Amino acid sequence: MTALTMRSPGLGLKRGLARHCPNCGEGHLFSGYLKVQPTCEACGHDNGAYRADDGPAYFTILLVGHLVVAPLLCFSFIWTWPVGLVLTLTLSLVAGATLALLPFVKGGFIGVQWGSRALAAE
Ligand SMILES: [Zn+2]
Repeated sequence: MTALTMRSPGLGLKRGLARHCPNCGEGHLFSGYLKVQPTCEACGHDNGAYRADDGPAYFTILLVGHLVVAPLLCFSFIWTWPVGLVLTLTLSLVAGATLALLPFVKGGFIGVQWGSRALAAE
C-alpha cells in the first residue's frame, strides 16, 4: 500500500498537528515558526504546494476565542479589577495562546489539505 492510497484527512490532521510532513509523517513541515519547507527532507513531497492563506489564522482565532476568551468571562476579576490591569493580563494571555497554537493549527490545516487531496496539481 503506498502513501498515496493511505491518504485521509484524519491522518493528515494528525501528522500536521505534530508539525510533520503530512505525506510521510517523518520530515519537518516547517523550516521556521510558520514557514513551510517547500520540499520534505524525508520523502521529497511538495509541501510548498498547499495554500494555507488565512485559514490557520481564522481557526486559531476561533479556538482561542472559545478556549480562552469565553472562559475568562466567568472569572470575577474581569469585572472588578482595574481595566488597565485586566487588559494587560488578558491580552498577554490571548496573544500567548494565539502564538502558541498557530503553528500547530497551520500544520493541521495543511495536513487536512493533503488528506483531502486539495491540490490543483493532483
Ligand atoms: Zn515527507
